[in-house]
Amino acid sequence: MVGFDCDPEIKEVSRMQNRKQTKPRPIPGRNMSQKRKAAVPMRLMRTPKQVDVNITNECNLRCKYCYHFGSEDDTGRDLPAGEWLFFFEELGRCGVMEVVMAGGEPFIREDLKEIIQGVVRNRMRFSLLSNGTLITEDVAAFIHATGRCNQVQVSIDGSMPVTHDSMRGRGSFKKAIEGIRTLQRHGINVEVRVTIHRKNVLDLEGIARLLLDEIGLAEFSTNSAGHMGLCRKNAEMVQLTPAERSLAMETLLQLNEKYGGRISASAGPLAEARMFRGMEDARRNGLTELNGRGCLTGCSGMMSKIAVRADGVMVPCTQLPMIELGRINRDSLEEVWRRHPELNRLRRRCEIPLGNFAFCAGCEYIRYCTGSCPALAFTLSGDPYHPAPDACLRKFLAEGGRLPDRALLC
Ligand code: SF4
Ligand code: SF4
Repeated sequence: MVGFDCDPEIKEVSRMQNRKQTKPRPIPGRNMSQKRKAAVPMRLMRTPKQVDVNITNECNLRCKYCYHFGSEDDTGRDLPAGEWLFFFEELGRCGVMEVVMAGGEPFIREDLKEIIQGVVRNRMRFSLLSNGTLITEDVAAFIHATGRCNQVQVSIDGSMPVTHDSMRGRGSFKKAIEGIRTLQRHGINVEVRVTIHRKNVLDLEGIARLLLDEIGLAEFSTNSAGHMGLCRKNAEMVQLTPAERSLAMETLLQLNEKYGGRISASAGPLAEARMFRGMEDARRNGLTELNGRGCLTGCSGMMSKIAVRADGVMVPCTQLPMIELGRINRDSLEEVWRRHPELNRLRRRCEIPLGNFAFCAGCEYIRYCTGSCPALAFTLSGDPYHPAPDACLRKFLAEGGRLPDRALLC
């Protein structure tokens, strides 16, 4: 994330970042055209490529680590379809390419087809994130017929009911697998996301066998539950201990090797295994720096996409629902995207040196670290402009975590 211009307001944002940071204040939606103009990074696209919309607050499940319920994302009010359809017309005019619909559970909406038709009518493609339990033949046939679906992502957390249902509720495994089969029968591209927690960490091999061998997916992705939403009150039951996290890292690396790289991760134990091992190797080899490290990470998502809560409030990302940027159908997407000061401040997060933080003082990894993503940082520190304690290698090792063998990464 480079190439910003040198507008004075951006410089001011940078100076603010380097002062002591406080918890971010939500910025109520405003008519952006009436605001003074803030700087626009030079490489920023005129409008986002992708928009993530939570089309409902409702869900038929209550997963024990759900980020939605119990967080600012659960606004309790769903917009009528007409509001989404009007917004999609704006997205179409802006040249947005993909709308990713989630919730809650998007398939719970009885007017889902009407909402999808709005996306298609405006010449965009779409994806859906689902628990898989409400997918019928009828809706799968409809999705296929649009010819515009990139993928439906279904969450699977176990190779059998006892592991999957432990967090997602009785009967959900069977229905989710049926949902995947239904999508496959209709030729829809299915992506599976596995959230790793304390009840399935010993089932990872079984999960890989089920998804890759039996169901025949090309690949699946993994993550772990962040300390937000319902996970806050269920953390003991959900979040991996350092020993379990170490085991998950090793097991996933071994399975990825066995399955020829068909397991991916941008967060969670598999991503951490690679990141942590690289940091330790850099420290041992005495590297003076690693490219792009030593400062907070700049989330690339904020250069290409924006999100909308189920009540129509635009936010930087679905995982940062507390930072309000404006309201759809009242504020211009393009203005919010290019000029909202908080969004531009998040884009400049990558300029904040880790040396600014007392949390990182004296750390041997400081030149090789990024402090992880702003949403993860917010969950424990209450500040997205801070390193994420949950992703801190020094803390992980101090608590008894162990790094995976280097040979597993070759
Ligand atoms: S994690 Fe997804 S499926 Fe589970 S309760 Fe939350 S919204 Fe529903
Ligand atoms: S203390 Fe943690 S977050 Fe800070 S530089 Fe070290 S490993 Fe990274």
